[in-house]
Parts: sequence; C-alpha cells; structure tokens
Amino acid sequence: MDVILASANQGKVREVRKIFADTPVLSGCRVLTLADIGFTADIEENGTTFEENALIKARAVADGKHIAIADDSGLEVDALGGAPGVFSARYAGGHGDDDANNRLLLENLKGVPLEKRTARYVAAIACVLPNGESFTVRGTCEGKILFAGEGEGGFGYDPFFYTEEYGKTMASITPEEKNAISHRGKALRLLADKLSQML
Ligand code: IMP
Repeated sequence: MDVILASANQGKVREVRKIFADTPVLSGCRVLTLADIGFTADIEENGTTFEENALIKARAVADGKHIAIADDSGLEVDALGGAPGVFSARYAGGHGDDDANNRLLLENLKGVPLEKRTARYVAAIACVLPNGESFTVRGTCEGKILFAGEGEGGFGYDPFFYTEEYGKTMASITPEEKNAISHRGKALRLLADKLSQML
C-alpha cells in the first residue's frame, strides 16, 4: 500500500521515509509526496488545533486509494498561554520567518525567569485511510526557552529551545539525536506502530 504525504518539505519527507524503511510491515510502502501526485493547490490551514490542521491537510490529498498522512507542529510556551501554538510558523507575521519569530518570542518573554520559561514542541500526524476513516497521533517534547540562541543546526525555534535530555539546545545536537527525542520523531513512531497493527 502506497502512502501520500501531504508535505512539500524535503526534511519531513526524508524523516517519514526513514521511519517507514525501519518498520518491517511498512518498509514495502512507497511514500509519495505532493510533487509525485501533481498536487499544487494551496491548502488553507484554518484549524484551531494541530490535529485539526493535520486532518485538513490529509483530507485534502486523500484519494480513496492510498493512505494519506499529514503533520502539523509548533511550539507552546506556558508563560505565553500556549502561544505561538498553531501560529508558530507565522508568529511574527510572515510565514516561516524564523529570525523574526524568535525575536518576537524573546520580546514577549522579557522579564520571565528561566524556571518559568517552560515550553514544548508538539507534532500531530493525521492519517486518512482509503475507506475514509481517520485517526491522529501526537508527540511532544518538553524544554525551556533560553535568553540567547545556541547552536547552528535544526530550524525554527531550535537555537532557543533547551532540552534537559542532552543539556543543550535543539540546534546543538545532531539530526539523529533530535529524532530520538523530538515531537515529530515520537509522533512518527506512534503512526508506524498504529499502521503496522492495521496492515
Ligand atoms: P509546520 O508543522 O511545518 O507548519 O511547522 C510549524 C512551525 O513550528 C515551524 O515553522 C517552526 O516555527 C515550528 N516548529 C515545528 N517543529 C519544529 C522543530 O522541530 N524545531 C523548531 N521549530 C519547529
């Protein structure tokens, strides 16, 4: 059974292909991207939760023949009432402007001491089956937002996101180390487990 992944992000495509390749029941599945199926329409992510947005994207590409999957992820900061949440990519306005998003995050956390700067990355993955049934899985990764950035790796909020597991920011660890503890890695492994039981 082939799987359509509703993402044009090559990093995500690579992660999904790797997890599928490493999972015995799924290793024979081809993971098709939006480009592979010629899907070019814009999908409006107007849900209020990560799960809703992931389902909107998975439903948009579901064709009744393949398994369709999509993810949505972001950062929740406790001292900001869970913001930026589903607005993580466009926190400062422009979509995907990491520098502006990080500047606004620090500005909004001004005066908040380290022990109150608790935060988590969240990833929801939605799966729509050929018969129209759907389910979602969620992975989280706890951390703290530092006062200054550290590290050159990762993307988004990673230079400021400190993880206790490694005693470093997410931008200071290898991609393999990040996958082992990340929200997306955890959600993908849950998805692989669930699909393995169903197929
Ligand atoms: P999306 O799921 O691709 O829409 O990503 C949402 C946004 O959440 C990204 O643009 C980042 O700002 C943030 N984000 C999600 N996952 C990560 C991560 O692993 N590291 C850093 N930022 C992330």
